[in-house]
Amino acid sequence: MSGRRYDAIVVGARCAGSPTAMLLARKGYEVLLLDRATFPSDTISTHLIHPPGVAALRRWGLLDRLIATGCPPIHTYAFDFGPFTLTGSPGTEEEPVSYAPRRTVLDKLLLDAAAESGAEVRERFTVDEILLEDGTVVGIRGHERGGPSVTEKARVVVGADGLSSSVARAVEPEQYHEKPPILAAYYTYWSDLPMEGRFEAYDLPNRGMAAWPTNDDLTLVIAGWPFAEFEANRKDIEGNYLAVLGMPPAFAERVRGAKREERFLGMAVPNYFRRPFGPGWALVGDAGYNKDYITAQGISDAFRDAELCAIALDEALSGARAFDDAMRAYQETRDNHVLPMYEFTAQVASLQPPPPELQRVLAAAQGNPEAMDGFARVNAGMTSPAEFFSQENVGRILSAADAARTRPSRNPDGGRPH
Ligand SMILES: Cc1cc2nc3c(=O)[nH]c(=O)nc-3n(C[C@H](O)[C@H](O)[C@H](O)COP(=O)(O)OP(=O)(O)OC[C@H]3O[C@@H](n4cnc5c(N)ncnc54)[C@H](O)[C@@H]3O)c2cc1C
Repeated sequence: MSGRRYDAIVVGARCAGSPTAMLLARKGYEVLLLDRATFPSDTISTHLIHPPGVAALRRWGLLDRLIATGCPPIHTYAFDFGPFTLTGSPGTEEEPVSYAPRRTVLDKLLLDAAAESGAEVRERFTVDEILLEDGTVVGIRGHERGGPSVTEKARVVVGADGLSSSVARAVEPEQYHEKPPILAAYYTYWSDLPMEGRFEAYDLPNRGMAAWPTNDDLTLVIAGWPFAEFEANRKDIEGNYLAVLGMPPAFAERVRGAKREERFLGMAVPNYFRRPFGPGWALVGDAGYNKDYITAQGISDAFRDAELCAIALDEALSGARAFDDAMRAYQETRDNHVLPMYEFTAQVASLQPPPPELQRVLAAAQGNPEAMDGFARVNAGMTSPAEFFSQENVGRILSAADAARTRPSRNPDGGRPH
């Protein structure tokens, strides 16, 4: 044991942990950041960061570093529903684009930023036990790879340790809005598959697929099927994956000229909210809340958690506010923000055709630039699904479609390239 008592120990140093440690260290707190991994390293996750996540990187002064890695910007999202495609901009004038940096690039950049901000970082360090005294978390016990067991103490231990969080396991938080895994998907990387700054998603019968550009001139392509087929399709991942890529004819043609560069990775995940705080502990990122990755929200969500949690912990640690009050505000803000997207994501992940009413609205949005941007922004987490699918907005989209039908059109394709 070092004999030192940190203000915060953060377990897990990727999208949620490193920014939490960085933000606390920037406020002057003594922070210990631990991860059993070494960096740079990959993890099973695709890595589209929508404009809200990009905005966080900009606020933290890290966006220029990301851009300097050569990661291409993504300015257009195209959703192919078969009979029609909705093509829109995911962002706003201030934050117009998304990026999809490899996790080897992103996570290392975040870890370095935490260290530069003053957090003490230990890689190759596995947390074996969460220490409790009278129901309050007081520290951790763990070991560096090949090293002896050590104890470290802190005023708060933050679990940023992902889906199988050891902090969550130890404190057994209340879990709510749970849903079992809905989708199983696999991805890999292709060369010679140019995307020209586009994210493309394909809504196929009982299948889903998406493609977008990343570092090193590679394109990530992910393909998925219902979780009910997970076990059966595991026996031939490549065959099942390629069968999905062959379904949209124009995309299948593009893939014929491309080369697969890496192995297949994939998994299915559960959906849950966990109470993200209690005596001496807090949860951020997947440790505290998870939903299917089909809408690619997890990294931006982890960034938002890091900011909200760091603000709440600052209030609590500085004595400005009672711990429970500050952390309850973090929980409420998180839950209110993500709940509509949680339900929307579950619907999309089911790979079932949208309900007829929704189909009517989406079909009506075709060719309406404002509505198509709006739909892209829902998927980007910029606009809440509750706002986009509100009666008022739906009424506007349907009336605009009616008006367009009665007007002679100069561009029969609807005004936007597909
Ligand atoms: C297939 C798939 C595709 C996805 N695609 C996207 C996408 O395109 N866009 C998006 O925004 N999100 C995506 N996500 C979600 C995203 O990956 C997660 O939301 C995000 O990684 C959460 O970050 P985190 O820091 O909470 O957890 P993680 O990234 O899981 O990091 C947890 C860290 O904790 C460490 N750790 C765990 N236990 C211990 C321990 N006992 N001791 C020490 N260290 C420990 C691990 O080594 C790890 O480094 C996807 C997820 C999956 C599974």
